[in-house]
Amino acid sequence: MSDTHTQRTRLAPSPTGALHLGNARTFLVNWAIARRERWSIVLRVEDLDGPRVKPEAIEGVCRTLAWLGIDWDTGPLVQSQDLGPCREAMGQLARAGRAYPSAVSRAEVESAASAPHPGDHEVWFGPQLRPAGWGAGRSFEDTGTAWRFVVPEGPEARVGFVDRFAGAQGVDVGGTVGDFVIWTRRGVPAYQLAVVVDDHRQGVTRVIRGDDLISSAGRQLLLWRALGLGPEPEYWHLPLVVGPDGRRLAKRHGDTRVDRYRGLGVPAEAVVGLCAWWCGMTPERRLMSAREFAAGLDVSMMPRAATVMGMEDEAWLHGCASRR
Ligand code: GLU
Repeated sequence: MSDTHTQRTRLAPSPTGALHLGNARTFLVNWAIARRERWSIVLRVEDLDGPRVKPEAIEGVCRTLAWLGIDWDTGPLVQSQDLGPCREAMGQLARAGRAYPSAVSRAEVESAASAPHPGDHEVWFGPQLRPAGWGAGRSFEDTGTAWRFVVPEGPEARVGFVDRFAGAQGVDVGGTVGDFVIWTRRGVPAYQLAVVVDDHRQGVTRVIRGDDLISSAGRQLLLWRALGLGPEPEYWHLPLVVGPDGRRLAKRHGDTRVDRYRGLGVPAEAVVGLCAWWCGMTPERRLMSAREFAAGLDVSMMPRAATVMGMEDEAWLHGCASRR
């Protein structure tokens, strides 16, 4: 066997917004574990979300990762470039009566009686909103209507899995989101479907990402099972970096894009060093190369709770900038 890797992970950046420090930390940890464990790494650019992204944005995200010292074995594979397997998966689900087209609007969903309120802008799409004849096998047609996945009712609506970092999980997909969109009105697969189809066809066996995606893992496992894709990937959901208000790092906390620090003359070793400090690897902030990060990372020392990025972190990065 020429390929000595037995496991494979993926780095899956979205090129819609440049990487910020929280993304950098997750990618560094993912990369470091993979290099230590000798998993292979595929870089997959997830460009299906929102308007068409420009090739420069894709190059930009690769450049930022490489600047940090992160490398990969395969890719970049660009998600939008081959939607054939997603269409095939849609055909399979539609034939099996597990997917149906639905033009029910968000407002109609919201006004449906007694919907529970899941977090994160999601509205519950219960079985009462399914169209007549929803369970019949049909062929998949992409005609500008969204398609939804039939989430099983009863105990199967709750998905259990053991997360390697976050521990045992039970995600109640039926009770929180219900039938979720898998094909969008824009004529592209929704994130949930694209991730499952791509993880499977790219041979991904290890998924490491932020813990804001734990609830998505429930949906992805349901799809994985409905498509009969075999052994499920092992998940590691890591706590996020948050702002002082406890919310996930975002523009409202100021500009924490890696490229901005780079532009200010902050060396990559400062960004990596800050991530190392956030991972509990060092007693204080110091410069560190990606190679040293990979050698020293001890996942068991990582904080179990979200890391708060504070003013001192920002000030420290600025203090590392070369004066030019
Ligand atoms: N592209 C997604 C993001 O940047 C990650 C999806 C995943 O890891 O499954 O948030």
